Amino acid sequence: MSERKNKLSVIIPVFNEGECIVEVANRLLELREKLLSELDLELLFVDDGSSDMSLSILKEISAKNLNVKIIVFSRNFGHQIAVTAGIDMACGDYVAIIDADLQDPPELLEDMYHLALQGFDVVYGKRRSRAGETLLKRLTAVVFYKFINYMCDINIPMDTGDFRLMSRRVVDELKQLRERHRFIRGLIPWLGFKSVPFEYDRHVRFAGKTKYPFSKMIRFAMNAILSFSQKPLILAMHLGFWSILVGIFGGLYMLYIKLFTTISVPGITVVIFCIILFGGIQIFLIGIIGEYIARIFEESKQRPLYIVAETTNI
Ligand code: UDP
Ligand code: MG
Repeated sequence: MSERKNKLSVIIPVFNEGECIVEVANRLLELREKLLSELDLELLFVDDGSSDMSLSILKEISAKNLNVKIIVFSRNFGHQIAVTAGIDMACGDYVAIIDADLQDPPELLEDMYHLALQGFDVVYGKRRSRAGETLLKRLTAVVFYKFINYMCDINIPMDTGDFRLMSRRVVDELKQLRERHRFIRGLIPWLGFKSVPFEYDRHVRFAGKTKYPFSKMIRFAMNAILSFSQKPLILAMHLGFWSILVGIFGGLYMLYIKLFTTISVPGITVVIFCIILFGGIQIFLIGIIGEYIARIFEESKQRPLYIVAETTNI
């Protein structure tokens, strides 16, 4: 009697990747053919509100191949939410996440799967090199990971993205985390389980432009920190504490000068400077608290994370 074949669901979030899709699908389908004797592959494309040819190309491909499935969002909900929808609908024994731009070679999934079979629940891609990325992107990446790890309580490995392969039990646990501001590469380490890095060389984007301009990257980093850590609030408290100490000792010193010396304390410039400085600090800290409150507000509305307009082959 033959054992049941494992199934691997591959999630591919797509936002205006018309120039890449045929190549991604072809390479994944080639991999499917190659692995067919031991593993069944399903491709789960999530169209995140693309306005280019992506969807029509995807539909053509899925019409010819039932293993190519599509989830279509009603609008753009963002990369992390698109991946989440894929995770919700994937039915494989293993689930992999890969970008649609071929920066992470799909062929590596074979080795990643074999590594997982050795008893790992998460095999996460770790970038040994990053071809074709601008200096700005690399620099921000280094600062980003260092800063995140300083700010957050969980450890997010350096140079990792969402390119990874997970076992069914990790996926089932991940599905239960319904928070809105999602930082998936942090949520998975938070779950725990046995994980192993898989080193690879990141390629250049096959075609098209990055969908993460600088402003979006900043928002992504903010999400990561604010969703995983209360450290900004703690740092704010420290700042307040030291300001109070400075205030008390400064005040006592002024009092001493006034009472026991003949020096007159010159004033208005210092006063204005202090008002501006501390006013600024206070507004900044209120902004941080506001960010947390905004998150509570958004979570409390309990809206669904995404709206599906249609699906194909599901
Ligand atoms: N993406 C998405 N929704 C978005 C932005 C991006 O589904 O709002 C997809 C995009 O099509 C790609 C993946 O997320 O498959 C990663 O985006 P990108 O390659 O532009 O990011 P980068 O690799 O430059 O950080
Ligand atoms: Mg990319």
